[in-house]
Amino acid sequence: YTFEKLGVCKILCEECKNVNYQTPSKIQIQAIPYALRGRDIIGIAETGSGKTAAFVIPILQSLLDHNKPYFALVISPTRELAFQIKEHFELLGRSIALRVVVIVGGVDIVSQAAAFARKPHVIVATPGRLVDHLENTKGFSLQSIRFLVLDEADRLLSMDFEKELEKIIAALPKERQSFLFSATMTRKVQKLQRVSLTNPVKLQV
Ligand code: AMP
Repeated sequence: YTFEKLGVCKILCEECKNVNYQTPSKIQIQAIPYALRGRDIIGIAETGSGKTAAFVIPILQSLLDHNKPYFALVISPTRELAFQIKEHFELLGRSIALRVVVIVGGVDIVSQAAAFARKPHVIVATPGRLVDHLENTKGFSLQSIRFLVLDEADRLLSMDFEKELEKIIAALPKERQSFLFSATMTRKVQKLQRVSLTNPVKLQV
């Protein structure tokens, strides 16, 4: 398999080469073609499988066509993972001057609101702080989000973020593409999948 054969555009194939991704990983082989065709995806995959690039590449490919701000929202259970995801987007998105903002707790809320106002393409957030902005920051809206990613969904749920996730999903447009990744499939993950995804393809590595 090659990224090109999965339908990845020339610019992004080049970026993959630049970061030394020689061949796509299993989860990327499974997910990228469906993602590029607009399908919602539930991926059971662990950290280390290459799951991040499996959602970053399709989102970037869509951004190359549309170049719109507030385009994708990624929900992460932790600050550390949020920053790793941001780095992944920036690494593969170098050719498009991608703007990514991280919205997590423990950071000054006013400067965070200012960073959000600078029209990032991608927002990577932990649930608590994102809801805080939704409820308290004037002009903060998720109405133009076209892609939602729920990363490490089992961890999101074991950290009791259910209420926050409900509020976030309610603030998103219905017309969007959504990906859910989780290391394990639990009852709670299934329930979250039902409220966040539409007719998803189920993939497991
Ligand atoms: P992840 O599972 O998304 O946390 O990725 C684990 C590691 O694999 C990260 O350091 C990625 O940069 C790397 N990686 C992702 N996709 C590929 C690939 N196709 N080839 C080589 N390394 C990759």
